[in-house]
Amino acid sequence: MSHVHVIGGGLAGLSAAVELAPQARVTLYEAGPACGGRARSFHDRALDTVIDNGNHLLLSANPCTFRYLDLLGARDTLKGPGQPVFPWYDLEAGLAWTLRLSPGRIPFWLLRRGSRVPGMKLGEVMALFRLMKAEGQTRVADCLLPGQFAHRLLEPLAVSGLNTDIETGSARLLGNIVRRTLAKGGSACCPWMAANGLSESFVTPAMRYLDAFHAEVLTGTRVSALKEEAGRIVALETSNGPVTLGAEDSVIMAVPSPVATGLLPELDGPDEFESIANAHYRLQQLLKPRGALKQAGFIGLVGGVAEWVFLHDEVLSVTVSAANRYADWRNEAMLEHIWGELRRALDPLIEEPLPEDVPVARLIREKRATFAATPEQDKKRPGAKTAYANLALAGDWTDTGLPSTIEGAIQSGLAAVGALGFRTAFAGAE
Ligand SMILES: Cc1cc2nc3c(=O)[nH]c(=O)nc-3n(C[C@H](O)[C@H](O)[C@H](O)COP(=O)(O)OP(=O)(O)OC[C@H]3O[C@@H](n4cnc5c(N)ncnc54)[C@H](O)[C@@H]3O)c2cc1C
Repeated sequence: MSHVHVIGGGLAGLSAAVELAPQARVTLYEAGPACGGRARSFHDRALDTVIDNGNHLLLSANPCTFRYLDLLGARDTLKGPGQPVFPWYDLEAGLAWTLRLSPGRIPFWLLRRGSRVPGMKLGEVMALFRLMKAEGQTRVADCLLPGQFAHRLLEPLAVSGLNTDIETGSARLLGNIVRRTLAKGGSACCPWMAANGLSESFVTPAMRYLDAFHAEVLTGTRVSALKEEAGRIVALETSNGPVTLGAEDSVIMAVPSPVATGLLPELDGPDEFESIANAHYRLQQLLKPRGALKQAGFIGLVGGVAEWVFLHDEVLSVTVSAANRYADWRNEAMLEHIWGELRRALDPLIEEPLPEDVPVARLIREKRATFAATPEQDKKRPGAKTAYANLALAGDWTDTGLPSTIEGAIQSGLAAVGALGFRTAFAGAE
């Protein structure tokens, strides 16, 4: 039986390992104490509860992700309104509304005042076509038309989807998201979140699945070098000693771009990154949301620093994307500012107002959350195949056609499995 060595236990490595487990012997090497990489849960001492390193929002148009969850029997660990419902609040205008997309391809929601973006003009929707046609060097800002559709929907979608500002962000990558989501209609846009943390949805079920197939998962094991001979990888250097590969063995390298280019110096990969900041506030009592906020379990904010607010029982978690711009802001000051925004946005939508004082809180800045989704960085992304016959690449930074996302990571794992000649359900990027 062939033996595949998977380096990196983020979602790309896990996706590859899960796909391979029924058809090959698998060993997964993860440098950290647990798998999950940039999508993981942990117990936070200050908050005294389990939180995710960052809120992750998924849309129903993520075929590789839902297939992965189905294989693991973990789809029911997600929660969501079951409908394309997005509550919003504009902090500058003091205005709340709910975007309610119609399910099919014909966008009836655009014709209904109560379902669409307030203040938008129908002509602004042309921006979606411009994005879907965009190529090469085009930036998101080049495709948007001035108006509320851009300000209250496309800009927030771009900044959170690309984790890059609209002046530099790749219109092609955003166009690919639009093609898979809004253009397909509301049923492709239902929002989903991990109900009890990312690890419980994406990692623990994968560990169980891999265990059932006797795959080996070596956490706390860093791979520090690959040894090459005659166009093949023949050995790995790990923190637990060398591993010699058999003639039929192969390797999937599913580590972040800077690690991959360090292990394989001839490789090119993205080298500019954007951070994401997540502010987590521990509340003294459960929130009692009303209306669409209760239905969705989250809300999008425009016109402030906070962008998405997620309600997790007694923890309010806030996402701030493209957060390099806030790198110099002290944590306490940023937490206080965001708390002020939360009180303005949420108080009209909950039964009891939030307290004036900032509760116990924690700010997590993931400095290299994603590669900067600019046209220049997008061009540096390699495919799954390498110059070595038995080495394939995976990771959200490889050429998936998507920005750094869970879907991109899981899809890349499948592409790597295919590149090594194993069976996979993945037919290629759209
Ligand atoms: C705060 C935050 C919020 C996000 N929000 C969203 C969202 O809402 N929706 C969405 O779809 N995506 C979101 N993402 C992106 C998503 O989390 C990533 O795209 C995805 O998790 C990347 O998976 P990966 O396997 O490619 O990389 P990683 O998760 O980085 O995995 C790489 C793994 O390799 C390991 N490793 C590194 N070096 C070595 C070595 N030498 N030897 C062995 N192992 C090694 C690392 O420890 C890590 O576990 C978010 C990311 C962050 C950080």
